[in-house]
Amino acid sequence: MPYHRILVVGAGLAGLRAAIEAAGEDVAVLTRVHPVRSHSVAAQGGVNAPLANVPEGKEDSPERHAFDTVKGADYLADQDAAELMTRLAPERIYEIENWGCPFSRTPEGKIAQRPFGGAGFPRTCYAADRTGHAMLHTLYEQVVKRGIRVYEEWLMLDLIVSGGRCRGVVAMDMVSGRVEAFGAEAVVMATGGAGRIYARSTNSHINTGSAAAFCYMRGVPLKDMEFVQFHPTSLYPNNVLISEAARGEGGYLLNRDGERFMARYAPKAMELGPRDIVARSIQTEIDEGRGFENAYVHLDLRHLGAEKIKERLPAIREIAMYFAGVDPIEKPIPIQPAQHYTMGGLDVDKDGASELPGLFAAGECACVSVHGANRLGGNSLLETVVFGQLAGAAAVRYVRGLEKTGPDGSALDTAVGEVEARIGELISRQDGERTAVIREEMKQVMFEKVGIFREEGPMREAVEKIRELKERVKRARVDARGRRYNLELISALELPAMLELAEVIALGALTRPESRGSHFRRDYPQRDDANWLKHTVARWTPDGPRLEYKPVVITKWQPEARKY
Ligand SMILES: Cc1cc2nc3c(=O)[nH]c(=O)nc-3n(C[C@H](O)[C@H](O)[C@H](O)COP(=O)(O)OP(=O)(O)OC[C@H]3O[C@@H](n4cnc5c(N)ncnc54)[C@H](O)[C@@H]3O)c2cc1C
Repeated sequence: MPYHRILVVGAGLAGLRAAIEAAGEDVAVLTRVHPVRSHSVAAQGGVNAPLANVPEGKEDSPERHAFDTVKGADYLADQDAAELMTRLAPERIYEIENWGCPFSRTPEGKIAQRPFGGAGFPRTCYAADRTGHAMLHTLYEQVVKRGIRVYEEWLMLDLIVSGGRCRGVVAMDMVSGRVEAFGAEAVVMATGGAGRIYARSTNSHINTGSAAAFCYMRGVPLKDMEFVQFHPTSLYPNNVLISEAARGEGGYLLNRDGERFMARYAPKAMELGPRDIVARSIQTEIDEGRGFENAYVHLDLRHLGAEKIKERLPAIREIAMYFAGVDPIEKPIPIQPAQHYTMGGLDVDKDGASELPGLFAAGECACVSVHGANRLGGNSLLETVVFGQLAGAAAVRYVRGLEKTGPDGSALDTAVGEVEARIGELISRQDGERTAVIREEMKQVMFEKVGIFREEGPMREAVEKIRELKERVKRARVDARGRRYNLELISALELPAMLELAEVIALGALTRPESRGSHFRRDYPQRDDANWLKHTVARWTPDGPRLEYKPVVITKWQPEARKY
C-alpha cells in the first residue's frame, strides 16, 4: 500500500508547483494523465504580473493589479487574498523565468506583456499563444530534476478521512483497474476545473471536477460554485478556445451588420471588457438576431496583418484553420460564448488549508477566493503558481507539526472496500440505462438553464432535473465490464460526483437573487450588496447541499458600480 507524507493529487501547474515546494519532504504526485497532458497545457493567452515592462504599463503596480482583480470579480473576491496574489506575482514569474520558461520578449529583452480584458495596463506575460504549454513543461522539468515520484494514470475515487483528519485517497490504476489506498498525512488537491458538467465547454474531457466532489462528499465544503465563467470567444461549432490574446492584440468583434457592437455595452474598454460582460454582449447580439445562423458572431483579426498574426497568435491561426477551415489572415473567425472556468471550488484559506485538517487545495479546484464572481483572463495561471507554492509550504508545515504519523491501516482498508463495492455493483448490474445518456442530459440542462442568462423558473427545473438524474444514476449500467482502461466504467464512477457539483451550482444560483459577475439573473438584474455581498458555502448532506454564507474580506475598496 503506497504511503507518502504529502500526496499532491493533480499534476497541472498548481499541483506541480505545490510538489516542488514540498520536495524536501516525502512527497508524491498522483494524476489521471501524464503531467504535461494536464489541462494547464492548453492555456494560451498568458499570465498576469505587474512587472511594468512595457511603456504603456510603466505605472502598473501590485495594488493596481489587485484593484483590477477585485473590480473584475464584481467585489466578491477576498481583497486580502487578491493583494497577496498580486504582491507575490513578480516573484513567481521571475522564478519560473529563471527555471527556463521561454516567455516572449520586448525589444530590450524583458518579458513581454500584452493587454487583457478588465486590466488597466498591459500586464499579461506570454509565450506567444502557448503560455500554459511553456509553463507546464518548465515546472515538470523541475519535478523530474528533484526526483519527485509521479503516479501517472491513477484516478482518485475517494478521500480518506479518519479521526477528524485527512489520511489519504483511494485511487484506481486506469491501466490495470486495480484499486489502492494511498496513505498520506496531508493531501493537496490540485485537480482543476469542472467544465465538463456543462455542454459547450472549452475544457478538456478530463475536467470533470469529480475529485473535488469526492472531497465535498466527505465533508469538505465548496464555496461560490454558482459563479461559472463563460468565455466570450470559443470557436463555432466545436468550442475550442480562441484566446483573449486575439482581442488583446487588437481583434474586433463584429455582428452580421459589420458593427463593432461592444461600443454599446462597454464603450471605453470595447473588446477588452471583462469576460462576463463581453460574453453576455455577444449572446445578446445572437439572441436579438444580429448574429449569424442564430449561433455566432465574428472575431476579425484581418487588420492586424499576416506578420503579427503569425508571430503573436500562431496557435489561434492553426486552431481556426484546422477546426473551422478559416484562415484568420483572410477571413473572420466564427465565435460563440462557452463554459470556460470554475470560479468556485473547495473552500480554502490563503495557505490552501480547508477546514479538514490535512486537506489542502490550490488552482482551479480551490476557491481562496481571488476571482470572486468573475475571473480576469491571465489571473488563473497566476493563481496556480502563487497558491500552489503556498499550499505546498503549508502542507510541509502541517506534517512537520504532527505528533503521530504513519498509515491508518484500517481506515485505508475500509475506504478501498467501499470503492470496490461501487465498482462491483456497476459491473454486475445487468439492466438499467446507460450512464452516457444521463451525463448528456446533465450537460444540456446545465447549459440551457444555469448558463449565461439565468431565471428562477428554469433554474428550479434544473434543480429538479438534477435530483431526478441523481436517482436514475443509482440504477444505471455499463456495457463494458472489464477493468483495464475501461473508460465507460471511469465515466460511470465519476458521474454521481459530477451530479453533486451540478446540484450545488444550480441550487447556489437559484438561491442568490441578484446579478453579480458571471451570475446574471434576468429576474434580478442588479447587484445587491446590502444582502448578497457574501460567499456561498455548500455542505454535503444526504438530502442535498446545505447552503451557508460567509462575509467577503474588504480591505481597501468599497464596492462601487462596475463600468468599463
Ligand atoms: C483552453 C483554455 C485556455 C486557458 N488559457 C488561460 C490563460 O491564457 N491564462 C490563464 O490565466 N488561464 C487560462 N485558462 C485557465 C487555466 O488554464 C486553468 O485554470 C489552470 O491551468 C488550471 O490549472 P490547475 O493546475 O488548477 O489544473 P489542471 O491543469 O487542469 O490540472 C488538473 C490535474 O488534476 C488531475 N486530475 C483531475 N481529476 C483527477 C482525478 N480524479 N484523479 C487524479 N488526477 C486528477 C489531472 O490529471 C491534472 O493533472 C485557460 C483554460 C482553458 C480551458
